[in-house]
Amino acid sequence: MQEQQDTARGIVIVGAGQAGARAAEAARSAGYAGRITLIGAEAHLPYERPQLSKEMLLDVEAPLQMVRDAEGWAALNIDVVTGARIVSGDIRKSVVVAEDGRLFFYDKLLIATGTAARRLPALEAGPLPVLTLRTIEDALALRAHLRPGLRLAVVGGGVIGLEAAAAATKMGATVTVIEAAATLLSRALPPVVSDFLRARHEQAGVVFRLGQPPISATAEGVVLASGEVVPADLILVGIGVEPELDLARSLGLEIDSGIKVDGHGRTSVHNVFAAGDVVSQWCAWHGRAMRIETWANAQNQAAAAARSMVGELTAYQDAPWFWTNQYELNIQVVGNAVGGEVVVRGTPAGGRFSVANLVAGEVVGAVTVNMPKDMASLRRLVAARRSLAADELKDPGFDLRRAAAVR
Ligand SMILES: Cc1cc2nc3c(=O)[nH]c(=O)nc-3n(C[C@H](O)[C@H](O)[C@H](O)COP(=O)(O)OP(=O)(O)OC[C@H]3O[C@@H](n4cnc5c(N)ncnc54)[C@H](O)[C@@H]3O)c2cc1C
Repeated sequence: MQEQQDTARGIVIVGAGQAGARAAEAARSAGYAGRITLIGAEAHLPYERPQLSKEMLLDVEAPLQMVRDAEGWAALNIDVVTGARIVSGDIRKSVVVAEDGRLFFYDKLLIATGTAARRLPALEAGPLPVLTLRTIEDALALRAHLRPGLRLAVVGGGVIGLEAAAAATKMGATVTVIEAAATLLSRALPPVVSDFLRARHEQAGVVFRLGQPPISATAEGVVLASGEVVPADLILVGIGVEPELDLARSLGLEIDSGIKVDGHGRTSVHNVFAAGDVVSQWCAWHGRAMRIETWANAQNQAAAAARSMVGELTAYQDAPWFWTNQYELNIQVVGNAVGGEVVVRGTPAGGRFSVANLVAGEVVGAVTVNMPKDMASLRRLVAARRSLAADELKDPGFDLRRAAAVR
């Protein structure tokens, strides 16, 4: 086996996605002057994933959005090692090992290995091309197929499947969304938003097959549990993700739905931290430990973990927040937006409205549809779990900004 060139250990970060990249930057900006090595399995420097199901599908000329370019990484004196999958490690020797045998010794290790798209072997066994959407290569492969007349079956009515459905429709494809659950995004969106979103897709020509798991694929299309065949030339599977846990297992870290970390990003091993999609952390808004698969979480949880790692103990306790863009719609969700008393502000028919979710009188979650300004206030209200009366909130004249400013 080949050893790292010099003996300086420093910080090693495994996983060069959003979380790994932001952790490296945050460690540097917190004043850490030692060596930082950021190692990623992909051939690219860290890039933004949200573009893959939006700009990249809609515009062949869209410039690729990277977290920073090679000069930017060099300016921070951060070594980015691409195309290197870490396959094992040893916590007693504080070392991780790449597939090609390279050894990377560390003083502190941060794992940000993210997730991989869940696949459906039963469909892949059929004759139609089956794609997933997680990487630049995936997005380019999907975009290469998109053309007027293409019959696309999207399996999974989650955010990525729906964004791809919107983009494919705009590119002239005929799209059917197949979803095993009876409603779209039922764990993230209250019914009023979910129904609104579905109607917008239907207006664009998307056909839904809900409550119907796919069974197999034939040359004609996707066979559903009911026996119906959804005609298709191409299948996109968007049924969620699986955390990349092999390295964490090899190191013997504690794991539940992801790598278990405390509020500061510390794993069960003293000099090993973790952040991003791969991590399971207590979430006060959902009342349980869970993985949060959002861009903002990858950014901010990683930055907090990196600061903790370099000695500036930093708690991460942001309310989960994400956005999705579909057609002309910008939808943003904060906290836990389902399951309580759902209060609607504005009228869905007008295409601009927001929704607050109250539990025991506290605002614990909210959704905005084309109301980004409301979201700024709602994020503060949700963060503070402010108690507000449903009648007040419902009133479009109620000043959310002023309510959010009250301490
Ligand atoms: C198509 C798409 C659209 C999205 N849109 C939105 C959006 O609109 N809004 C939003 O909030 N979120 C969105 N997200 C989610 C957001 O991008 C993710 O939450 C975020 O990228 C997670 O970052 P991460 O660094 O934790 O994991 P990842 O981005 O998955 O990065 C992990 C990296 O680690 C590498 N890796 C894994 N194992 C190893 C190993 N053993 N050795 C070396 N490297 C390894 C992987 O190759 C990968 O590059 C989207 C995601 C996708 C896929």
